[in-house]
Amino acid sequence: MSPDATSPAEPLHDPAGSPRGRLTVLAGPTAVGKGTIAAYVRTHFPGVWFSVSMTTRRPRPGEVDGVHYHFVDDREFDRLVEAGQFLEYAVVHGAAKYGTPRGPVERVIREGRDALLEIDLQGARQVRDTWPDALFVFLAPPSWEELVRRLVGRGTEDEAERERRLSTARAELAAQSEFDEVIVNDDVRRASEELVSLMRSGRADR
Ligand code: 5GP
Repeated sequence: MSPDATSPAEPLHDPAGSPRGRLTVLAGPTAVGKGTIAAYVRTHFPGVWFSVSMTTRRPRPGEVDGVHYHFVDDREFDRLVEAGQFLEYAVVHGAAKYGTPRGPVERVIREGRDALLEIDLQGARQVRDTWPDALFVFLAPPSWEELVRRLVGRGTEDEAERERRLSTARAELAAQSEFDEVIVNDDVRRASEELVSLMRSGRADR
């Protein structure tokens, strides 16, 4: 990853001191329930703005372009990388490319709103380099056994893909100490409320 591709286009701190929103990055291993938490927060906390990622993977049934992801082909993705349009990007699970479009996030933060990125560990590390005052939250499973159970129970991946994801998950679990906060996803509502409360903590205007 070249530093130029991820360096911010504008200063991160507004010199005029106007109130800026807070960027929160939510990461965690596969099948830990990031998507479920995100869906709960979307429904119950409409004030939280979600970044819509770009991906080169195909839409799953029910996924809507521009809502769940912006679905693009490899060529378009690479063009946007070259143009410095991503805050971070990564190849996830050795398969598709995923990236956070930079412009919308910067705009929302400038407007003073809270923004949430739900991304993988590689992406979270890149954001830490370019946006160190973001809040980094790790979503952890109650136990390794529970994570395996959720991954198998989901039934959306074949065996080879499941093995690949589990080996990624093992490495990702080991990285939780890099994060500011760890939330255990033992209950969707409780974990979601803890996330939103962390996002709002430390803000004088709340
Ligand atoms: P899925 O294909 O199941 O929607 O997502 C697979 C993984 O990609 C998840 O771990 C999700 O957090 C991650 N992901 C989604 N969007 C982004 C993104 O913009 N950047 C990065 N680095 N990872 C992402």
